[in-house]
Amino acid sequence: MKIETLAIRATAPPHDTLTGVVTSPIQLSTTYERQPDGSLGPYVYTRANNPNRQTLEHALAALEGGQVALAFGSGQAATMTLLQSLRPGDHVIAPHDAYYGSLLLMQDLFGVWGLDLSKVDTTDLAQVRSVVRPSTKLIWLESPSNPLLSVSDIEAVAALAHEHGAICAVDNTWATPVLQRPLELGADVVMHSTTKYFGGHSDLLGGALVLKENGDLAERLRKIQTTGGAVPSAFDCWLVARGIRTLPLRVRTAATTAQQIADFLANHPAVESVYYPGLASHPAHDLASRQMQLPGAMLSIEVKGGEKAALQLASALRLFTHATSLGGVESLIEHRRSVEGDVSLSPPGLLRISVGLEHPDDLIADLAQALGQLEP
Ligand SMILES: *Cc1c(COP(=O)(O)O)cnc(C)c1O
Repeated sequence: MKIETLAIRATAPPHDTLTGVVTSPIQLSTTYERQPDGSLGPYVYTRANNPNRQTLEHALAALEGGQVALAFGSGQAATMTLLQSLRPGDHVIAPHDAYYGSLLLMQDLFGVWGLDLSKVDTTDLAQVRSVVRPSTKLIWLESPSNPLLSVSDIEAVAALAHEHGAICAVDNTWATPVLQRPLELGADVVMHSTTKYFGGHSDLLGGALVLKENGDLAERLRKIQTTGGAVPSAFDCWLVARGIRTLPLRVRTAATTAQQIADFLANHPAVESVYYPGLASHPAHDLASRQMQLPGAMLSIEVKGGEKAALQLASALRLFTHATSLGGVESLIEHRRSVEGDVSLSPPGLLRISVGLEHPDDLIADLAQALGQLEP
């Protein structure tokens, strides 16, 4: 099945002869009655399992082409669970420009727990290779990265990880399985903030891990999920499953609009640089064209005039809300450095744009009027 069909079929409820429902009811019950003989039924307690979570996990695995998926209360809870499967003294390699929250987890929270971290430019395979050591257990990738849109070679890094007995996990939040399928490229684990494109409407917080194989790692992660309890509510699972039904349409439409916006901005005299893998000027344009179906719906720009001009532009826009997050139906723009703080690698004049589902003509006209207000 193609992903559009999977998105619909994989989120359909199990056949219910009593009611014949076509969409899943939300199962709020936290506890489940035992069989008459005292034995346990398919559900016991909602931290361990819940019908809405089960439907969602089934759909997430199907979309990424994995054998098993685990849903969490946030993207950060998903990443944290993967890190908790490691042991003190284990070594992790991560992109120096990964989502700052992922790096905060690896450095600040798991640093004191004894996890060793090397941050490198993962677009450069030689740099990744140079920091691998016998204790390396995990190579973390994020491609395209947040907010610099760097593109790493997933297939090559996954092969390198396997050569050294490590696993490769990819934060696929920005691309989604509609545009990029890391497990097919050799990765072992895919992580998602389902808060973003999966939910798609800026009204829920969620995360996921999808595993290529239902083996020992999956079992360990399941134990951390159900014992640690960083699980999503039934309602949030239902919302994500609902979002998935339109995911392929939303992501493709937004990505097509993003390409048009990137082309417009790249040719605008007030714009210093545009970070978007869909532009021929992007250093990994060819790799992105091979690795992704479309270059995605996220881009970053630097305007002439630095931070002051960037903040001025964000305020002058009418159809781009100045707010954090991404992947919703509404277009957002964000001055990234002021939210990331001192650890930020974002240039002071960088604005990150999440392209939504408004008409491209309206978005481009809005950018044109706001850029026109900047001092030459
Ligand atoms: C938002 C985001 C996260 C964190 O997810 P939450 O749902 O906010 O916990 C991780 N990685 C990327 C790329 C993100 O955009």
